[in-house]
Amino acid sequence: MGFEDNIRKVIPYVPGEQPKDKVIKLNTNESPYPPSPKVLETMRNLDWERLRLYPDPLMSDLTESLAAHYKVKPSEVFAGVGSDDVLSMCFLTFFAGDKPVFFPDITYSFYDVWADVYRIPYETKKLDRDFMIKAVDYYPENGGVVIANPNAPTGIAVGLDLIEDIIVHNKDSVVIVDEAYVDFGAESALPLINKYDNLVVVRTMSKSRAMAGMRIGYCFGNERLIKYLNDVKYSVNSYTLNYPSIAAGKAAIEDEGYFRDIVGKIMATRERAAKEFERLGFSYYPSDTNFLFVRPPEGYAASDVFSQLKERGIYVRYFRKERISGCLRITMGTDEEMDELMSALGEILGNP
Ligand code: PMP
Repeated sequence: MGFEDNIRKVIPYVPGEQPKDKVIKLNTNESPYPPSPKVLETMRNLDWERLRLYPDPLMSDLTESLAAHYKVKPSEVFAGVGSDDVLSMCFLTFFAGDKPVFFPDITYSFYDVWADVYRIPYETKKLDRDFMIKAVDYYPENGGVVIANPNAPTGIAVGLDLIEDIIVHNKDSVVIVDEAYVDFGAESALPLINKYDNLVVVRTMSKSRAMAGMRIGYCFGNERLIKYLNDVKYSVNSYTLNYPSIAAGKAAIEDEGYFRDIVGKIMATRERAAKEFERLGFSYYPSDTNFLFVRPPEGYAASDVFSQLKERGIYVRYFRKERISGCLRITMGTDEEMDELMSALGEILGNP
C-alpha cells in the first residue's frame, strides 16, 4: 500500500451545518445576540497595521484580564482557539499514559475523536436512563476523566458534590470539567482548583459571551498543570490566538453588565420555550444551558421533525446515535425565532 500505511487516518468530528442562506439557526448553540458593544468598539479601534507582527505568544492581555475577572493567578490560566483547541491540548498533555480515559457514553462527541487522533485509550461510562452520571463509574483506575457539566447534548447539569466526588476518587489522574455552558445556570468547579491539583476547568466565549466566530476558549488549573499545557502548546504552535482575538476576548470579559443581560434573556427564553414544548406534547430534559434537548410526542420521529423543520428554513440538531436518536437539540434563539419554531412545530404536528 506504500505511503497509505504511514498516514494517520481518523473519523473526524462533524460540526453542525453553517448554511449560507438566511435561516433560523438553532443548531450549533451560538448566541442569538451580538457580542458586547465594547467588543465591537475595540475591533473598530484596533491598530490594524500591527497585523504585520506576530501576536503576543503569552496572550497576556487576555490571560491577565481572565485572571482578574475569575480571581485566580495569571499562571493558573491557559487560552486557546476556542475550547476545542484547549480541550485538544488537554487531551494531548494530560492523557499520555496507557490506562483508559473515562467519559460518559452520551456527551460532547469530540472527546472520542481527540482520543482516537492522539491514540489515547478510552472507555465510555453509560449514563443512567435519565442521562445522569453515576460517580462510582469513575472510581476504577484510569488514565484521566472528562466530564461536561452541564452535559451536551442533554443540557443536564450535576451538582458540585458529584464533581468533587469524582475528583477525590481520582487523585492519580487529571479530571477535566468542560464548562462550555456553565453560565446558563450550573455551578462551576472553578473554586475547587485551589483544593485539588488534578483538576482542569475549561470554558469558552462561544456561547454566553456571543463570540463563537472569534474562537476563544480558556481553562483554569493549578500552576503546574498550566505549565505542562503551555509546554505542549509551545511544542505545537506558539501563536494560537491572533491579535484581534486577544483584544476582543479582553473586551468581552470586562463587560460584565452586557454578559449578565444576554445570559438572563437566554435563560428567560428557555423557560418560555420549555412551556411551549410542553403545550405541543414534547417532553424535555432539565437544561442549564442555552439549548433544550427535547423528545417529540408519541408517533413523531425526531428525524422527520428535523427534516421538516429544515424544509421550512429552521435548523436544529439531530444525532443519529444510539439512545438519543429520538431527541432533538434545539438552541435558544431570540423570542421571535422561538415563536416561529413553535408555529412550524404546530403545523408539522397538525395542531397549530
Ligand atoms: N464543549 C462542549 C460541551 C461543546 O458543546 C462545545 C461546542 N461545540 C465545545 C466544548 C467547543 O466550543 P468552542 O470550541 O466554540 O469553545
